[in-house]
Amino acid sequence: MKMMIKGIARETLNFIMEASKSTFPNEFAGLLQAKDGIITDILILPGTESSEVNAVLKLFMMPNISAVGSVHSHPSSVIRPSKADLRLFSKTGNHHIIVGHPFGPDNWKCFSGSGEEISLDVLDVEIEDDELV
Ligand SMILES: [Zn+2]
Repeated sequence: MKMMIKGIARETLNFIMEASKSTFPNEFAGLLQAKDGIITDILILPGTESSEVNAVLKLFMMPNISAVGSVHSHPSSVIRPSKADLRLFSKTGNHHIIVGHPFGPDNWKCFSGSGEEISLDVLDVEIEDDELV
């Protein structure tokens, strides 16, 4: 499933940072879902194990989930995909966000399915809370 991604909602990025802070020193991971080309939803698996490889791997094992990519945190503050990350990125979607400690507004990068750094705009959009996926 191909979708042109225009960017990520600021609110959603803030949510990722807050979730990463509260999960620290463990890892936060989720799948990105987009509506009308804007990433507005994070799908978090209940009971996701908070270890780098396991957390992300489990997400990609979920059947029938349409995701435009993934997000996970690096408690180490190094914002660079590991070899395991690169393998997983290639499986689902083309937008993979890695956030790094201390999870400030600029402590993140977006990577393509092949692991190259790509730009992702942060958009000020209203998110309708009452709409379910
Ligand atoms: Zn990683």
